[in-house]
Amino acid sequence: MQVVDGFAGAVGNTPLIRLKRASAATGCEILGKAEFMQPGGSVKDRAALGIIEDAERRGQLTPGEPGIVVEGTAGNTGIGLTLVANARGYQSIIVVPHTQSREKLDFLRMIGADLRLVDPKPLRDPGHYVNTSRRIAEQLAAEGKRVIWANQFGNLANAAAHEATTGPEIWAQTGGRVDAFTCSCGTGGTLTGVARALKARNPKLRIVLADPMGSGMYSWIKTGEVKAEGNSITEGIGQASAVPGNLEHGRAFIDDAVQIDDPTALEQVFDLQLHEGISIGGSAGINVAAAIAVARQMGPGHTIVTVLCDGGARYQSKLFNPAFLRERGLPVPPWLA
Ligand code: PMP
Repeated sequence: MQVVDGFAGAVGNTPLIRLKRASAATGCEILGKAEFMQPGGSVKDRAALGIIEDAERRGQLTPGEPGIVVEGTAGNTGIGLTLVANARGYQSIIVVPHTQSREKLDFLRMIGADLRLVDPKPLRDPGHYVNTSRRIAEQLAAEGKRVIWANQFGNLANAAAHEATTGPEIWAQTGGRVDAFTCSCGTGGTLTGVARALKARNPKLRIVLADPMGSGMYSWIKTGEVKAEGNSITEGIGQASAVPGNLEHGRAFIDDAVQIDDPTALEQVFDLQLHEGISIGGSAGINVAAAIAVARQMGPGHTIVTVLCDGGARYQSKLFNPAFLRERGLPVPPWLA
């Protein structure tokens, strides 16, 4: 029998897909970790499970007993946390900026999250979704409830989940024949966890941060200073003003950074869907474009791995909506134009 137990058992062990056109264009092997195939639909299922299991190990939550998971998120972490919570008998309170895709918000409502929408605010503002979620968790704790604030940005159980699963899976799937890994960061959990796991096995392996416009993490890696310019329609990645704890935790393992604009990322999103049957979201588009940039820097014959964070269906109303794209002067997929 090859059976797993529930949502938790289904997390991880995603395929590593050879991206044909990116590989042919660069003479490298460009491989994408298919996180859009996770049970909750994104790479964040791993972090969500890791954070809740860590809280259970610490005795903060007990499966089957009342408990509340509170988090501020661009959506995907909230989806993962809510699904894990449902499977364990907890409630979830999920704080999201209303600017995130309608599909993610609808999905959160559909799966029973107590969804709290907030206005987008700078991180220093008390109304920022992260600060709001922390306040809600503190208030519930003060009322004597059993509650955790998942705190995906600062909670190192996030990166640890990737260090224990994503990184070792990539190493095993490539048989150790991997020269570089690149991916964008929201919390930095994926990048740091994978970097720590791969560098422990091969210190010469190159780790490159992929950053969207409007994020200051590219300049932080390049110069040590956080400076952000421009903007991006991608969701869940990029930090304008502060370095998340989970990214800081991987800094010593990050060799370089590349910056990718939206048109370059969208070209990958549209091409992969139309020509290879792989439907991805915007952050995955940034990652694939970054893998191509890294391949060009390194030259032919290298193997570069990246992450396909989530699927295109999560962004139908944005990345695949001609009116949304035209308004922003972005390319429209020819078959939808
Ligand atoms: N892509 C998407 C679509 C996401 O939702 C996230 C998480 N916010 C990321 C990438 C970044 O992952 P991480 O938090 O591990 O840096």
